[in-house]
Amino acid sequence: MTGKINPLDLVRPNILALEPYSTARDEFKGGDISVWLDANESPYPSGLNRYPDPHQKKLKHAIAALKGVREEQIFIGGAGSDEAIDLVYRIFCRPGIDNAISISPTYGVYEVSADINDIALRKVELGEDYSLPVDALLEATNGNSKVLWICSPNNPTGNAFAPEEILRLVDSFPGMVVVDEAYIDFSPYPSLLNVLDKHPNLIVMQTFSKAWGMASLRMGMAFASPGIAELFARVKYPYNVNGPTQEELLRRICETDIKGNVDEIISERSRLASALESMPKVRKVHHSDANFLLVEVEDADGMYDYLISHGVIVRNRNRVKGCRGCLRFTVGTPEENDRVISLVEKF
Ligand SMILES: *Cc1c(COP(=O)(O)O)cnc(C)c1O
Repeated sequence: MTGKINPLDLVRPNILALEPYSTARDEFKGGDISVWLDANESPYPSGLNRYPDPHQKKLKHAIAALKGVREEQIFIGGAGSDEAIDLVYRIFCRPGIDNAISISPTYGVYEVSADINDIALRKVELGEDYSLPVDALLEATNGNSKVLWICSPNNPTGNAFAPEEILRLVDSFPGMVVVDEAYIDFSPYPSLLNVLDKHPNLIVMQTFSKAWGMASLRMGMAFASPGIAELFARVKYPYNVNGPTQEELLRRICETDIKGNVDEIISERSRLASALESMPKVRKVHHSDANFLLVEVEDADGMYDYLISHGVIVRNRNRVKGCRGCLRFTVGTPEENDRVISLVEKF
């Protein structure tokens, strides 16, 4: 049982022993400096000539307040959550030796990143109605299982798993459990961020790409115990979040209230679901706690092509195991959803 597990025992030995790269800005310990000659930067002001803060201190301060966590629990990725996913493998999994476990179907990046890092990914099919197969996930582990991925709400199925069930895995899995909460703002369940301190083997991931409407910025986050967050900081590229992105995100976090848009997406999600459910070519609209609907239809490839020919693109999941016959519809604006409804009606 993991009550006793020390997550540092799960870390790759070379990462534990790593002497991280020290940047010029790391070695600067403060002082009243007006002449900066420590980093081989250009002295000519261009707005971009200085290296950014490698630790993103101001941003972490704002994110800590926003999420109700402490700054030392935060990792910020400048290439989205995908950066944090890759770092999890590089910190915990020895290539060719260790393995990770995921549900299936789920977000494809866990597998691609496992392949890149030469880590075997053991996929466990979801249960009836895409329920969490807690016992089967635990049965799939062996002594080299270091990471368990739980995406909740899950992409592409849309449903969230009850926190108690996820915590049963956190308590029983003898490795790190990563809960990807990319869609948590659309879910009726609370984030697991509020129990982070009780579970040293828990990592929670979130992103600014979905509810926050900043997919273009590529800002993802991982939250963990300070010891694990420190390992992320050591292994990441030193200046992994560029200066303009840090400033832009800081400004938007302070200015933006996402509630109005999130509420509209949630009410549009149920309107779109009821409308689609009543159509003859729709077999099933799966329950969603996210900003998209997984919809089983009669001729998935045909409907996909038909929608494209009318200027609407959805995601074809027809060839994904466990999603046979399904298209994934992102919830759009009310006008966009009207368009989709009237097109599917005529198909
Ligand atoms: C969209 C999505 C993300 C976000 O990825 P970014 O790289 O932060 O844009 C993460 N996880 C899941 C499951 C997603 O669907």
